[in-house]
Amino acid sequence: MNRSLTRSLTCWFLSFALFSAVLFSYSSCKYLVIASEYSTYQILNSACQKEAELFAFWFQKCVDHMKMAFPHPPRLVPEVEDALVRLQREMPGCRRLVLLDGKGMVVADTAGSRGSSLSFPNQGTGRTATPLPDGGSITSNFYICVPLDEGGDSGTLRGEFDVCSVRSAIDPGIADHKEFAIPIDQKKVWLYGFGYRPKKPEWTKLRMYLVGIEPPMLVELNGNEKPQHSPARTAPPPKPGSEVMRWAKEKGSGVGAYTDGAGRKVLAAYRWMPDPARMLVVEVKRADVLAGVFSQFATMLLLTLFLLLLFTVPLSTLVTRKLAGPLKQLAAEADRIAAGDFGRQIEIAAYSEIAVLTGAFNNMSARLQESYAQKARQIEELARQKLEIENRNRELERLRQQLERNKAELEEKNSRLQEMAYIDELTRVLNRRSFLAQALREMARARRCGQPVSAVMIDIDQFKSYNDTHGHACGDMMLRELAALLKGVARESDLVGRYGGDEFAVILPGIDLDGALAFTGRVLEVVKRSTFITPFGCLLMRVSIGVAVWQPEEHVGDLDQELRTLLNRADLALLDAKRTGRNRVVVNRGPEFR
Ligand code: GH3
Ligand code: MG
Repeated sequence: MNRSLTRSLTCWFLSFALFSAVLFSYSSCKYLVIASEYSTYQILNSACQKEAELFAFWFQKCVDHMKMAFPHPPRLVPEVEDALVRLQREMPGCRRLVLLDGKGMVVADTAGSRGSSLSFPNQGTGRTATPLPDGGSITSNFYICVPLDEGGDSGTLRGEFDVCSVRSAIDPGIADHKEFAIPIDQKKVWLYGFGYRPKKPEWTKLRMYLVGIEPPMLVELNGNEKPQHSPARTAPPPKPGSEVMRWAKEKGSGVGAYTDGAGRKVLAAYRWMPDPARMLVVEVKRADVLAGVFSQFATMLLLTLFLLLLFTVPLSTLVTRKLAGPLKQLAAEADRIAAGDFGRQIEIAAYSEIAVLTGAFNNMSARLQESYAQKARQIEELARQKLEIENRNRELERLRQQLERNKAELEEKNSRLQEMAYIDELTRVLNRRSFLAQALREMARARRCGQPVSAVMIDIDQFKSYNDTHGHACGDMMLRELAALLKGVARESDLVGRYGGDEFAVILPGIDLDGALAFTGRVLEVVKRSTFITPFGCLLMRVSIGVAVWQPEEHVGDLDQELRTLLNRADLALLDAKRTGRNRVVVNRGPEFR
């Protein structure tokens, strides 16, 4: 649903115009219908009253003529016939006059029949009219019976009249008379009148007829001689039980609507005429009355529509422009603000509602600008804080790395310190203190296990000469080389330590004298085969070795003391090896063996 305001407003305006036009036209039409029916009833009523008076006058005149024609009962038939012919000429519209005797036999007849019974209806005494024929055909024949005396014994004079030609016969120029023209439909003139036969039957919308009660009968007063030209004339007459017959039985006068035999609605005025005891009905088809109204309705609808459109289209265009223009301007300004152009102030000359909207818009724009500036300041501050945090982070990172380095350095120094506490720095074997401590633990384990421990003391022969000849660096190198050789010969479980100067000590846990001798033999052999390559050339080395063995079952004293004794014994053996020529192994077998 994305319809533009202009189109929607135009649609609404047009719908409103159409609805108003239809409603106005419908109301007007309804009013016109009621007004037309009312005025038609008025016209019908006055026409009915006038025609009833005219008819009664004509009727009375005919009766008077017929009465006065034979003041005395006639005797001679030729005289009677002459009198009848004269009388017929005097009475316009009279077709035939018949004199009947007291027994109903024709005495004289203007039509020529004599001595026979009556060939046209005889309704007994009094004034009568034609009975309503079966099948609904309508006649214009009207019969008047006048008894020649009070009892009717002397005879009866009967006249047959064509009531449709009575008025024309009286006054041939009657059709042009204003009295018989009703300008209901302003374009056409509805002609009417008792006895009037129009040249154009469609002009005569009013229909007049007489209705009798017993028996029901209908005589058309302004019927057409050529009914086929006017179908309305041939409409079936009212049925005995119909509304018209009810009016006739009531013998009153008034107006009303009823449905005729053809099913069409008819507006009628009626008036009972005591003499000749007939009811005169003047009617018109409702459709004829309303035809003008409906044509006026169509004209009015079109005219109203035209006028509404004439005003609505420019009005809707004006209103939509007045509304859509400022709204479009507002939308364009909103787009500019959305694009970042804050703080715009709009001036629109429009309705107060739009002006209020514009004011709200300007207010929003100003607030947006203020809010945007505040946000920009906040963003700037945040950026500054972010930069500061990044600098601090970098500083922290630098400090952390420094800390890491310091930590690594410290750990390295710690490990070096730890190493220095246990390892001899030059030769990378156990220093004397840690050697003694570990040797003590091995002694304890050996005592628990009942195993022997051998101690071996190794001293480089004539070491001082390396120092003296090649310098201490060379001496240090020789010391490192020997330590590496010893570690290579010793097992994983053996303890190798620097006991002092050029003297190394080895503890062989679980090794008895034979094992110790095997070890020392391998040491002598390896050292002998080794050539120590130094910057000062390839040097040879020889070592003296002292061995002592500790048996736990023989020595049960203090372990620390036992260890000292064992090492002293090995040292003594070493001294013996020195004294006895060096480059050899001497075993100390205990004090008793010395
Ligand atoms: P001997 O065969 O009798 O053992 O003769 P020697 O020359 O080896 O004599 P001694 O064992 O008494 O000499 C030890 C020398 O070792 C004394 C000292 O100058 C030297 N020395 C001690 N410690 C070091 C050291 O750490 N490095 C160096 N280069 N020389 C050392
Ligand atoms: Mg030495």
